[in-house]
Amino acid sequence: MSGQLILVATPIGNLGDFSERARIALHESAAICCEDTRRTGLLLQRFGITAGRYIVLNEHTEVDRIPDVLRLLAEGSDVTVVSDAGSPGISDPGERLVRATLDAGHQVSAVPGPSAVVMALSISGLPSGRFVFEGFLPRSGSGRTERITELAAEQRTMVLYEAPHRLVKTLTELSEFCGADRQIVIARELTKLHEEVWRGTVGDALGRAVQADPIGEHVLVLAGAPQSGPVTEDDLRTALRNRLAGGLDRKTAIAEVTAEFKAPKRTVYALALELK
Ligand code: SAM
Repeated sequence: MSGQLILVATPIGNLGDFSERARIALHESAAICCEDTRRTGLLLQRFGITAGRYIVLNEHTEVDRIPDVLRLLAEGSDVTVVSDAGSPGISDPGERLVRATLDAGHQVSAVPGPSAVVMALSISGLPSGRFVFEGFLPRSGSGRTERITELAAEQRTMVLYEAPHRLVKTLTELSEFCGADRQIVIARELTKLHEEVWRGTVGDALGRAVQADPIGEHVLVLAGAPQSGPVTEDDLRTALRNRLAGGLDRKTAIAEVTAEFKAPKRTVYALALELK
C-alpha cells in the first residue's frame, strides 16, 4: 500500500491557527517537505513535533526532490508538505510535486487551514461568489502589462498578493488601467497584531501608500469591472434564472437583478413571471 502526500496549511501569522490535525499529520509523516528547515523547525518545536526527516522544497529544488518523495510514497510512507506560511501550492511550492505524485498513481490529501487569499476575500465585503486569484503579478515587462490589461476588464472580484515595496507601483498601474474610482480592499498583516483591512478606491489607496511607506504583508482584493454594454433581456433572464436556481425567492431575485443592472423594475418583474 503506497503512502499519501499530505499538504498541511500552517498559520499566516497567529500560531493559534495551527490545527490539531496539522500537528498529527506532521508528527506522523516520514518526511516533511518545507521551504526553510529553520523556520519550519521553530514551528515544530513550538508544538512539540519531531520531524522524521526534512526535504527542502523551494522553487529551485522542487523538481529535483520529486524522485525522493515518490520513493518514500512507493515504500508506503506518508510525506507532508508545508510552506513558510499558509497553504502549500498557493503562490508557494507544491504544485509540481502534487502533479508528479498523481501521475505516479499515489494519493494526495490536505490538512486545510489558513490562506491569505481566502481570508482576505471572505472579509472584503466585495462579491465573493465568483472570484479570480492572480497571486503575484509579473514584476515587469510586457507580461505584466498584458496581465493588468486583462484584469482591468475582468468582471469577477480579483485577489492579488503584493510585496510592500511594490505596492505603490501596482496601485499606480491599477489606477491607470482600471480607473482611480475602482473599489479595492487592502488586507494587511492578517491574523497578526497589526491586522488592518482598508476599503476604498484605488486612487485613495494609492494616495495612502505614497504618504506612508507600506509595511507588512498585503493582499489586494479588487472589485470587478462594471458590466459593459447595453443590458439585454437575455442578460436579465440569465441573472434571474441563476438567482432562482440558487434558492432565492422571486421577490428578492427581482430586487437584486433590478439593482445590479439598473433596469426598470417592471421589465424585470415581467421577465420573472415569464420564467415560471
Ligand atoms: N501560501 C500562502 C497562502 O496560502 O496565503 C501565500 C504565500 S505567498 C509567498 C506570500 C504572500 O501572501 C504575501 O506576500 C502576502 O501577499 C500574502 N500573505 C501571506 N500572509 C499574509 C498575512 N498574514 N497578511 C496579509 N497577506 C499575507
